[in-house]
Amino acid sequence: MIYYKSAEQIELLRAAGKIVHDTLCMLETWIKPGMNSLKLDELAEEYIRSQNAVPSFKGYGGFPATLCISRNEEIVHGIPSKSTYLLDGDIVSIDCGALLKGYHGDHARTYAVGNVSPEKQRLMDVTRQCLVLGIEKAVIGNHLSDIGHAIQTYAESQGYSVVRELVGHGIGQRLHEDPQVPNYGKAGRGIILKEGLVIAIEPMVNMGKVGVRTLSDGWTIVTRDRKPSAHFEHTIAITKKGPNILTSGK
Ligand code: MG
Ligand code: MG
Repeated sequence: MIYYKSAEQIELLRAAGKIVHDTLCMLETWIKPGMNSLKLDELAEEYIRSQNAVPSFKGYGGFPATLCISRNEEIVHGIPSKSTYLLDGDIVSIDCGALLKGYHGDHARTYAVGNVSPEKQRLMDVTRQCLVLGIEKAVIGNHLSDIGHAIQTYAESQGYSVVRELVGHGIGQRLHEDPQVPNYGKAGRGIILKEGLVIAIEPMVNMGKVGVRTLSDGWTIVTRDRKPSAHFEHTIAITKKGPNILTSGK
């Protein structure tokens, strides 16, 4: 069931989204070679709680941390660990959620650690642009699948592939609500987008082939060919004035 949000609810979602945005901005200054991933997680949790919010992911389905930290061939759901350090040349996706006054924000970025290869930089640039193109389709009257179609078309035009097993989602009083928002598909399918729909759009783009697998920790999703993957996500409200990014920090 899809829960369409009122203007008041969208402002509550924006307040939660701002905390997630600000968390990722704060973390950016700590993303450097030698940084410990559990330390990043502690910094994020401390900041979120200082804003009277709660990490959305911690305990969700048993996930043990505030952040998903996924490096290189890890696509999403990497677990922060005392034994994991960021290395020069890594790309690292940091996905964060916060719950404030009963509403969730969800936002992810992929960062370069130190000096990354031109190939990895281009993967990040294309994935970020996929998110931009997907958001542009999040307008009243479009079909839901127009978003994924735009993402897939651009990613594949750049020689990359789009993950199928993981998708974007509705978001509100629950972290994951209907509808699912795939990053692929034909245009003109699925529900017609209406005012008040709030969704997390989150392209996951692989440099190599489309296949994925789950590591033995039960969480971390990696590319089957072990080539790098990037991930960007925003929480978006569909409004009469067009797509409104609730995790832009405004
Ligand atoms: Mg997320
Ligand atoms: Mg999400």
